[in-house]
Amino acid sequence: MKIDLKCHTAVITGGTSGIGLATAGLFLEAGANVAICGRDQTRLDDATATLTAAHSDANLLAASCDVLDKDSVANFVEKTVERFSGVDTLVNNAGQARVSNYEDTSEEAWREELNLKFFSVLYPSKSFQPHLENSNKAAIACTSSLIARQPESHVVATSAARAGQLSLIHSMARELAPKKIRVNSILVGVIESAQWMRWYKALPDGQPPYNDWLKEQAVAKGIPLGRFGKPKEAATALFFLGTPLSSYTTGSTIDLSGGLSRHVG
Ligand code: NDP
Repeated sequence: MKIDLKCHTAVITGGTSGIGLATAGLFLEAGANVAICGRDQTRLDDATATLTAAHSDANLLAASCDVLDKDSVANFVEKTVERFSGVDTLVNNAGQARVSNYEDTSEEAWREELNLKFFSVLYPSKSFQPHLENSNKAAIACTSSLIARQPESHVVATSAARAGQLSLIHSMARELAPKKIRVNSILVGVIESAQWMRWYKALPDGQPPYNDWLKEQAVAKGIPLGRFGKPKEAATALFFLGTPLSSYTTGSTIDLSGGLSRHVG
């Protein structure tokens, strides 16, 4: 099946790396206008080079924006609408995990994590909402995590914050349905990305090569499919949820955990 997204605009927060960058590539491939954001200018430049090597730069806006800064998000909305007129899809993807357990998570770290997981969805969603309301194919697709439903003690604050975030996303789906804005999420297990590369680089010397280390991690985690997911695999699910391909789906999740999910329903 092929979908033509000419005259469609997709916004992807955290679109400069990993899952977000792969999602931007899929929307561009389908003919959409794409606006990506991130905080780091070098990553923005690298992402622009990667995406424009394969697609027209006329369809791409890469803007610096911190999704936790309301004014910065307002500025990103303004730039996007000025460039592309409207917005049809918002992908709330920006973020990262915090490795810490119950004993060693400081009060400040708890606040930071809750702030990140709630406001990375709230600020972009609320700020882009007036434009999504003007679209006849409006969708918000969020990158969430399996730990929202299946907490892990080594990422205690991220697990708790993801659970609250998922509740928020489901409430948004109910409340925005009458406005014809669909809201869904993907529940990611482990996906190869810059985040994992950063953790690998922080390890003491003497580790196996990166790809071998990833394989060891997949085995240690007991992933039934035996490997990490690829950014494009998560991106494909976000693309489905962010386009009319999923026009009758809202308040739903797609599992991207390679079988790691143990809960029923
Ligand atoms: P990457 O580190 O590759 O990408 C993260 C992206 O988010 C970057 O573009 C980064 O750019 C951006 N970002 C982070 N914080 C902000 C911010 N405050 N404002 C704007 N942009 C921001 O990681 P992934 O692709 O793995 O992560 C994508 C999402 O998937 C994240 O929410 C992550 O928590 C989630 N996830 C990933 C898992 C995995 O195994 N990979 C597992 C579970 C969830 P910059 O830093 O320059 O701002």
